[in-house]
Amino acid sequence: MYVAKGGRTGVEAYNSSQESHSPARLALAGELRRALEQRELVVYYQPQAAVATGLVTGVEALVRWHHPRQGLVGPDVFVPLAENTGLIGPLTMAVLDNALAQVRNWDRMGVHLDLAVNLSTRSLLDRGLPGVVSKMLARHGLAPQRLELEITESMIASDPERAFEVLAQLRSVGVRIALDDFGTGYSSLANLRDLEVERLKIDRSFTQAMCESHPDAVIVASTVDLAHQLGLEVVAEGVETQEAWERLRQMGCDLAQGYFLARPMAPEHATAWLTGRRKLETGAASALVEVG
Ligand code: C2E
Ligand code: MG
Ligand code: MG
Repeated sequence: MYVAKGGRTGVEAYNSSQESHSPARLALAGELRRALEQRELVVYYQPQAAVATGLVTGVEALVRWHHPRQGLVGPDVFVPLAENTGLIGPLTMAVLDNALAQVRNWDRMGVHLDLAVNLSTRSLLDRGLPGVVSKMLARHGLAPQRLELEITESMIASDPERAFEVLAQLRSVGVRIALDDFGTGYSSLANLRDLEVERLKIDRSFTQAMCESHPDAVIVASTVDLAHQLGLEVVAEGVETQEAWERLRQMGCDLAQGYFLARPMAPEHATAWLTGRRKLETGAASALVEVG
């Protein structure tokens, strides 16, 4: 009932993974407020790179909960809890604030990266979001074009009119919008036509299956073509092997993200990884110049 109400879909089939009212989940939901206040939520970063050159262009912020007793809790568990308990607003803002500060830090170290942050349904339907995002960008001194907000089509399905309104305002702020998990759930070609997103992220279920399954390979290749024909950039998520990377290169996919390049990393690990990588990249570039 809560899923149907929250998503305004009217009817939903019972699915235990969406159950947010089991005693264990309720207890966790109760602790989430404290976690936000005590900064137990940590933003991890997963690099994205150009498929053709391997150059790292940006990172996606992926939140984790360092729970004092349960250890690392993933966003699939607590983001839905936050969504159902009214804590999603503060959570989204905390992730955004942290990640923007981190990106500015990397700027100061000479590592300039774009940032992608995931939105949730309630944030996307929040008419106050564009104003807050704009102020936050200004406070951190970051150009809006460097921020990309990831949405999914199910978020739009719950209230298309309001979602389109908020998206239009976000666009006028200057941030970019990416369509996450494309090809699953509520995917619709009408959305591709109407949404005016800049980027499309191919769901990792296709990328992971692509090298073993012909239909998945066809879906990935066709999605890359379709997106390019529409003037969109394509990101493949869940790239786990060199073979998948190579296939994506042949397909002309723009960007890739996945365990093959790097896992999501805690801030200090991400900093070490990114600065090390940047040294390699600039070393390679100067070697090219010398040869040229
Ligand atoms: P997503 O935005 O589609 O993020 C990609 C997920 O795929 C991440 O899971 C990432 O760790 C995982 N992944 C990346 N590369 C690979 C790979 O090569 N193989 C495999 N098997 N998995 C890979 P994660 O971090 O557990 O996040 C799950 C979802 O939680 C995200 O899916 C996103 O929808 C949501 N989420 C994460 N952080 C936030 C946040 O700050 N706010 C909101 N609203 N949602 C978030
Ligand atoms: Mg995402
Ligand atoms: Mg995704």
